[in-house]
Amino acid sequence: MEFCSLIRKKRDGLALTKEELTFFANAAAKQSVPDYQLSAMLMAMYLRGLDARETADLTLAMAHSGDTADLSSIPGIKADKHSTGGVGDKTTLIVAPVAAACGLKIAKMSGRGLGHTGGTVDKLESIPGFQTALSAARFTQIVNETGLCVVGQSGDLCPADKTLYALRDVTETVSSIPLIASSIMSKKLAGGADCIVLDVKCGSGAFMQTLPEAKALARAMVDIGKRAGRKTAALITNMDAPLGKAVGNSNELIEAISVLRGEGPDDLREVALSLAAKLLETAGTGTAAQCRELAKGAIESGAALEKLCAMVSAQGGDAGYIKEPARFPAAKHSAVLNARESGYLMHMDAAAVGQVCVRLGAGRQKKGDPIDHTAGIYFYKKPGDPIRCGEAIAKLFCEQGERLEEAAAALDAAITFGKESPQKQPMVFDCVE
Ligand code: URA
Repeated sequence: MEFCSLIRKKRDGLALTKEELTFFANAAAKQSVPDYQLSAMLMAMYLRGLDARETADLTLAMAHSGDTADLSSIPGIKADKHSTGGVGDKTTLIVAPVAAACGLKIAKMSGRGLGHTGGTVDKLESIPGFQTALSAARFTQIVNETGLCVVGQSGDLCPADKTLYALRDVTETVSSIPLIASSIMSKKLAGGADCIVLDVKCGSGAFMQTLPEAKALARAMVDIGKRAGRKTAALITNMDAPLGKAVGNSNELIEAISVLRGEGPDDLREVALSLAAKLLETAGTGTAAQCRELAKGAIESGAALEKLCAMVSAQGGDAGYIKEPARFPAAKHSAVLNARESGYLMHMDAAAVGQVCVRLGAGRQKKGDPIDHTAGIYFYKKPGDPIRCGEAIAKLFCEQGERLEEAAAALDAAITFGKESPQKQPMVFDCVE
């Protein structure tokens, strides 16, 4: 097959066949076609789009471009959840142990931080000794013994996505619904779960900023899951402000533990419970109302927290930190941001908050940068809260004190005030099944 003829076909708005899309995915995986031609194809796809059949064919080809996880030695229903990326989003750390406590098997591959969004693997690595790179045999053994295991993406899983994502990142072709859907779903399909719940984030901290865009992405991903024979559902959730009060790594883990103890902020508990209930419902555990009660019960009884402790120990971490979160080391330096006006906190640009955390050291400015697990922000006030001039809004903390002043100024610029209380938004906007 001649690659230029495929670029020409998509450039002219024609649909590509399954064979052509497979050729493209394999070329990306093997890097047998130069980056400039792969990038030209990505731009043609970005501008011309892919229909539902093309999106599903591309996803399957990407999913099979490398290794796929074999979960057949794990009895029971294997379930997975995935977020499209947000700020302060520590829901996996709650949903996975809750679902495992309710009997599902969670064999999960998670990501590291990407741009302004955080990653579960970085958060878990705040726990001394915790291993996120395990052999396939150890991974399945831990799921069989404890009901859950969360690791990083293994070496040769979806190599096509690795190449294409890196190119999209630098060619302004990230925010395309079929390209995001195929990128995420190829990794989910290769991960091998029977049932998948997607958390499609919508708002200032998400790739999809409006509800129609988020719904279209949710529909595209659910459609791919169904075509691939996996039970799939998506919740569209609010990411117009950071989720919860903590953004960073160890502080997010501590906040997730507080929700598992029946405490924690309402917005985070609501999104996490909704996702856990949807995962149980999608797996056929019961009705929506029954699954919600089951999820709540797993928190109230302490069973979900026990599951998290069991997983941490099995993955080499010190579960003493989960039982006693005060043991997590505090950052050396901190600064408080005070309100510059009285009235109401109207809005917080969640993506800007994520970028401030990256500057503090909680994320990477370039590939391979080390993470400061203690760095982050704790919010005393969130949008909708009344505030007096001079009152504390947030505390910023990190190991490198010289970063604080600029970070606090950037955080201040991300926040707007008003005289009237802003309209309260729901945390879960919609569900696509
Ligand atoms: N996350 C992914 O894995 N891929 C995308 O394209 C966007 C978010």
